Formats: sequence, C-alpha cells, structure tokens
Amino acid sequence: MPVYEFTCQECHKNFEVVRPMSEVSKSVACPHCGSTNVQRSWSSVFAVTSKKS
Ligand SMILES: [Zn+2]
Repeated sequence: MPVYEFTCQECHKNFEVVRPMSEVSKSVACPHCGSTNVQRSWSSVFAVTSKKS
C-alpha cells in the first residue's frame, strides 16, 4: 500500500498516511492539529519508487 506524505497548511508539520489508491482523494486530517487543510507531497512516493529500481 502506498505511503503518502502530507504537509499541514495550518501547523506546517509533515506526516505520512498509508491508504489504498482508491481512497487517496478522500480528505485527510492533520494528526497534530486536526485540520483538513493539508497538501500532499509526492516526495515519499518518489523515494519508494527509486528504491525499487
Ligand atoms: Zn496541522
């Protein structure tokens, strides 16, 4: 299952979420402050991909 990295726009902390592809578009809440104002980062996905090859 892919790991998605998010940055919270409210408290500016990074966190990772593991979820199936089918649910990636659902809203994610920041575990630190509970805000849903988060932005997805692809850095961790790229890291996993480059490790494989
Ligand atoms: Zn937050």
